[in-house]
Amino acid sequence: MLGYCPICREELWSDSTMMDPYFYRNHIARRYYLDHVNLKHKEFAAWDHKVQLIYGLVALTTAVSALLFFGALGGRFPSVYTSIFETFFVSSFVAIVVFVFVVVRGRRRFREVWNQQNGLSANTQPDA
Ligand SMILES: [Zn+2]
Repeated sequence: MLGYCPICREELWSDSTMMDPYFYRNHIARRYYLDHVNLKHKEFAAWDHKVQLIYGLVALTTAVSALLFFGALGGRFPSVYTSIFETFFVSSFVAIVVFVFVVVRGRRRFREVWNQQNGLSANTQPDA
């Protein structure tokens, strides 16, 4: 778990304040994180929530297509399906790569907007 807000880099908790068992600690850390983003970064919180839903769907699709593809390779399905499942598997894998790229860019954009609004931009861009 990250101890810092991904947007404003504010420290949300420190290890020394988290003396609880591991599972409980993760639960609390998640609460701290959600409370913070819902309060301070409403737009990011909504985006982050949507992103996690999409990520769940994409990951599930990839898992299913991987099962089908390797099942077809192992001869569980008629061989005509192998290339179909292969296409399905490769496309969902590409979708994950694209998705991760979009998420990384999206987070950076939210951070830059926040930096501009709060005047904390370390590398000032004159054309911004
Ligand atoms: Zn923050």
